[in-house]
Amino acid sequence: MPQIQLLPDYVVNQIAAGEVIERPASAVKELAENSLDAMAAQIKISVKKGGKDLIQISDNGCGIEPEDIEKSVLRHATSKLRDASDLFKLSTNGFRGEALSSIASVSKLVIESGGIRAEFEGGVLKSKEEAALPLGTVITVKDLFFNAPVRAEFLKNDSVENSRILDCIIRLAMANENVRFEYRADNRLLFCAAEGSLQARISDCLGASVARSLKEIEWEESGIRVRGFISAPEDLQAGKRNIPYIYLQKRPIYNALIAKAINQAYAPYGDYSPISVIFLDMPLETFDVNVHPAKREVRFSKDNAVFSAVNHAVHNALQNAISYPSISIANTLREAAPAYIATQLPTLNSQLSTFHPPTQELFPDNRIIPLNASYNSQLSTLNSPQTECLQIGKSFIICEQGQSMLMIDQHRAHKLILYERALQALQNGESLDSQELLFPEIIEIPAVLSPILDEQKNELKKLGFHIEHFGFNTWQVRGIPAHLRISAAGQAIIGFLENAKESRENDMFKKNALCYANSSAIPGGMELSAQDMKAMVSDLLSLQNPYETPKGEAVFMRMPLEDIKRKF
Ligand code: ADP
Ligand code: MG
Repeated sequence: MPQIQLLPDYVVNQIAAGEVIERPASAVKELAENSLDAMAAQIKISVKKGGKDLIQISDNGCGIEPEDIEKSVLRHATSKLRDASDLFKLSTNGFRGEALSSIASVSKLVIESGGIRAEFEGGVLKSKEEAALPLGTVITVKDLFFNAPVRAEFLKNDSVENSRILDCIIRLAMANENVRFEYRADNRLLFCAAEGSLQARISDCLGASVARSLKEIEWEESGIRVRGFISAPEDLQAGKRNIPYIYLQKRPIYNALIAKAINQAYAPYGDYSPISVIFLDMPLETFDVNVHPAKREVRFSKDNAVFSAVNHAVHNALQNAISYPSISIANTLREAAPAYIATQLPTLNSQLSTFHPPTQELFPDNRIIPLNASYNSQLSTLNSPQTECLQIGKSFIICEQGQSMLMIDQHRAHKLILYERALQALQNGESLDSQELLFPEIIEIPAVLSPILDEQKNELKKLGFHIEHFGFNTWQVRGIPAHLRISAAGQAIIGFLENAKESRENDMFKKNALCYANSSAIPGGMELSAQDMKAMVSDLLSLQNPYETPKGEAVFMRMPLEDIKRKF
């Protein structure tokens, strides 16, 4: 008996839905892209319960012809492609004709357009009638995943889904500044951007303060035009990973190669991945968007040329924005160098482009050793009242221990102490100490995170933040964690919200404790009194493992006396 059979259409559509419609945000993305393809000047999006109960998108675009309405929910039914050769000269967001069929197969869908109101359930037409409708199209998606319970179970809570939806909207809005966008979740307006200039749009999407600090990118190379905006190193937090907004012919894409090209241009300035908005334009035949059903990936015919164009574009923008660094390196070398090095400066100068900070190999007899747990028993003597601490460079604490000199990185030490304390408090369900601000501070939170902030207000309270909604995307901070500097409060809150969005519950405590410690620890370059230093050393010694920060950075270095002698 034959075993192979063709799958019925509704099963095929559900399989496709698995790839195209992963969560409410992917449905919103597909529907908003359709509105853009229909040349709408205004797109209104409204959701209920994180998009699980309802997603409604209305636009004032060209609408769907009455006789096309039923066809629009069929798989591979599209008005944007006629034959295979069109695949390589696409100017629309959609082309696969899979979105409406996929959404229809896993929801209850209503299409209102061209004077017709049609209702579908699980992809099957339930009713169709004429109706008096305004210009454009309204698509209503109810009970998403009603017939795919496993998919529904994977969804996060409403505020996280709302924020993901907003993220998709912002990605589209950023490239379409001439279209008005509105997004409401449970009747609350979460995002609104009127048609206007690209600068104004970036400001609506990323926040006015971020937008103000961005540098402009404008570059052309090998037929590839790169435009956009990027943050300068001085406005960034080292180590923080910002995901770039990348567009190819106004289509939001993600491409690891381009992300690498951006980060590489930044490498000389430190470990940054900047806030960046990159618009690429290149001849239609030099890329392929038909790679994945969700259409976020692309293939370039010449990867190297794209890499190099983006890399040069960012490099150039940074050079224009920042005073050339090699001059200042040369000056500091001259100031700091002993006379015999200073006389060699011309040669040093010519080597500066390949200058690397000295590494251990340069000093072969140098035995400065990070401390580890094997040192435990000896370390406790540091706690004795006789121990003297000395600060050098306002950054390191030096003390004598047995036959060694110990050096402690004050920033790392404090970070570790705060981390361990915060972690313990959070795990015990306690709140961190808070300081009330005499003058409340107004901070701006990126639009994508405001749905999360709403929901996380109580969690933030536990972390020591007292915060009230102030106005569109702005919040009033009345209290902050005890050790935090006011200037770092905004970044810290953003860090917590990103944790809430991205992390699984079981590692939230650790991530939050780390975020708190990172933003609150005293920085290098801060003068400490002898008393402060002793207190810090004693706090450090009270920890089970005082040797490494949560990220594995050494807190202590030891230089044995015999090595010091040898140096002389
Ligand atoms: P694709 O966008 O790949 O063509 P979709 O499944 O997203 O496929 O949509 C199918 C078709 O329905 C589109 O090609 C378009 O003709 C029509 N359509 C969908 N949404 C709209 C809209 N908002 N306005 C006008 N036409 C639309
Ligand atoms: Mg589409």
